[in-house]
Amino acid sequence: MQLPFFKNKTSDHPTSYVEVQNLRKVYKTPNGEFVALDNLSVKIEQGKFVAFIGRSGSGKSTLINCLTGIDRPSSGELYIDGVAVHKLNEYQLARWRGQRVGLVFQFFQLLPTLSLVENVMLPMELVNSYPPHKRRKRAMELLGMVGLADHANKLPADTSGGQQQRVAIARSLANDPAVIVCDEPTGNLDVGTAQQMFRLFQDLRDQGKTVIMVTHDDDLAYRADHVFLIESGVLVNEYLSDVLDELTPQQINAFIQHASITDFAPHMNIITEGTFGDEFFVILEGGVDILVNRNNHEVLVGRQTKGGLFGEMALVDGTTRSATVRADRETGVKVATINRATFQQLLDESDSFRHHMQALLASNREATNRKLGEVEMA
Ligand code: ADP
Repeated sequence: MQLPFFKNKTSDHPTSYVEVQNLRKVYKTPNGEFVALDNLSVKIEQGKFVAFIGRSGSGKSTLINCLTGIDRPSSGELYIDGVAVHKLNEYQLARWRGQRVGLVFQFFQLLPTLSLVENVMLPMELVNSYPPHKRRKRAMELLGMVGLADHANKLPADTSGGQQQRVAIARSLANDPAVIVCDEPTGNLDVGTAQQMFRLFQDLRDQGKTVIMVTHDDDLAYRADHVFLIESGVLVNEYLSDVLDELTPQQINAFIQHASITDFAPHMNIITEGTFGDEFFVILEGGVDILVNRNNHEVLVGRQTKGGLFGEMALVDGTTRSATVRADRETGVKVATINRATFQQLLDESDSFRHHMQALLASNREATNRKLGEVEMA
């Protein structure tokens, strides 16, 4: 049985893609409102395998819960396979999820009293999606696909963690969903088993499924087709594309792959004048003061806030740091940092990035000289 709102969607006519527009999720806490997702927009093409990475608490689970309709966004729009998920009522949402989304969690969540094959049949029973007499056969085929047909009548407790996760993947495919969403699917498995699981997701992608994975495992993530980094509820890819709009999505991906995210407490030095520098910084949150030493006095020659870039001078010029950069005395600063090799690669690959950096360097140098001139006049 199909519901009217996805009457025309069948797996014969895959149109599946995911489109998130300005998704915001605000939690009410005793200390006021907490923004867990901040106007996040993302598009995922059909048949791609994408990974979301980010530190603990960055908002990954919140995003996944909104994507799968387990939780409701505070505002924003969410389309999956042409369905306006944000507009579904609770009943429609539950049916849509049951029919169109395959879910795989970290802790398998198999029912302990059902055999493996019965676990795989369960989603079909829940949404009444295949004729009852065909369900066991289909479940057996799916178990065969994950290499577990011989274990079909075992209980979950009589199988290994890796086997249980393979059952969970088979179960997620029961209703032939276009999208598979996995929250830390390898989080509870050893490295070898995690790799097997990853290959299984790649196979699903090769069969045309869209696979969305949240993971702590950056090494695995970077073998997906595309990686999205979330930090404090912000999609860093989207943010960097705005700040460094001359870079292609592939270059943004390379930036993110090689970036580290660091929080500097208020008043901490990030760069010290006169030292050798090997890093380039993009401010994600907060701000910095830029200070130059003149006659043993620090002169404030500039400030940078969200979206600001610094550290380019020594890298472009091959000189020592010409200024000290210090985290804002009140807010501190959160930065994304890449090293010289990655920075150089972007300069080599992108004429417009190189021109941007040369222009930035020239205007920073001009501003510094003007400020120092003013101080000397005074
Ligand atoms: P991740 O999955 O990246 O570890 P989460 O999406 O679970 O992060 O959480 C993002 C942020 O939202 C965290 O700071 C968390 O403390 C907060 N958060 C999550 N759920 C709630 C809730 N129900 N109420 C208040 N804050 C929450």
